[in-house]
Amino acid sequence: MISTIDYAFIKNFLLTKKNIVITTHKTPDGDALGSSLALYHELKKNHHVNVIVPNEYPHYLKWLPGSSSILVYESNESICNKIIHNADLLFFLDFNKLYRTYTMCDILEKSAAYKIMIDHHEEPDDCCDYMLSDSSVASTAELIYDFLKHLDSELSQDISICLYTGIITDTGSLRYPNVTQKTHKIVADLMRFDIRHSHIHENLYNSQNKSRLDLLSICLQNLKLYKDQYAALVFLMESDLMSSNYQKGDTEGFVNLPLSLKNINFSTFFIQFKDGIKISFRSQGDFDVNAFAKLYFNGGGHKNAAGGFIDNKDMNAAISYFEKTLKKHLKK
Ligand code: 5GP
Ligand code: MN
Repeated sequence: MISTIDYAFIKNFLLTKKNIVITTHKTPDGDALGSSLALYHELKKNHHVNVIVPNEYPHYLKWLPGSSSILVYESNESICNKIIHNADLLFFLDFNKLYRTYTMCDILEKSAAYKIMIDHHEEPDDCCDYMLSDSSVASTAELIYDFLKHLDSELSQDISICLYTGIITDTGSLRYPNVTQKTHKIVADLMRFDIRHSHIHENLYNSQNKSRLDLLSICLQNLKLYKDQYAALVFLMESDLMSSNYQKGDTEGFVNLPLSLKNINFSTFFIQFKDGIKISFRSQGDFDVNAFAKLYFNGGGHKNAAGGFIDNKDMNAAISYFEKTLKKHLKK
């Protein structure tokens, strides 16, 4: 864990009303948004706070308390630039590298505001005044919980719903190996409030569009197995997205499906967009997909969940390159 946070300084800094911006990574997920909105609900008690996300986020997160106040940078650039320019304090949540904020990168880097990063990815950029970074923790939401405790904040129903969502979405519903006793204790504490946890799961996992099932069917037909490497690949083409009326979030979790097979411990998902191919890697057990993503795909993430992007949209070339690197890497 790296913590350079000076809580006395931050408490003192927050004694007077400040302009605060909370931001997170491109295509924010449940942890990114849950963490951002939990912090937003706390800080807006005494400050002027905006949550700005780089681009659109999935429809199944739009019910989160506070989500209607989120600003999407991509579609409100000049307003957002003004807000960031006037900020006294910036929070960078759930990302370790500034480039993951996409087109916001430049303005964030140039901002003279105090910057605090709270994140759980390995090797964070040294771009902030203060940092709370712990890659052994399963979700940023757990770090936000600790941060709020240090600031002597009172939890609320809204904060608890947001943090619960962050924890659940980043831990596969408390399933992954990095879930600890402390994770469960935090969840127990959040459940002091009437968070209606079943309702949250319904919203997250049982509110899908038909396009998701159409894409799932195509994706499974595209399954490739590499039995000698205990690996699998699934992919979707841009034309599949168009013919199925794809909406953001429809393919969430597809990368996990091959892992349900016996003797498959490494799964890859390629999805073709107009500007390139987005990659997701997942593993179970010892295979380090973060290292694999970094070494061959200029990406990163965690040991069992990582991602990357290829600027070229040629799917055949991407698959051949993947197959080559897979064989090379696992021969070592
Ligand atoms: P996902 O497959 O859900 O998009 O991403 C899985 C994990 O990898 C997440 O923790 C995410 O933060 C990280 N990740 C995804 N894409 C990239 C990337 O291009 N670069 C880096 N460094 N991490 C990524
Ligand atoms: Mn996260």
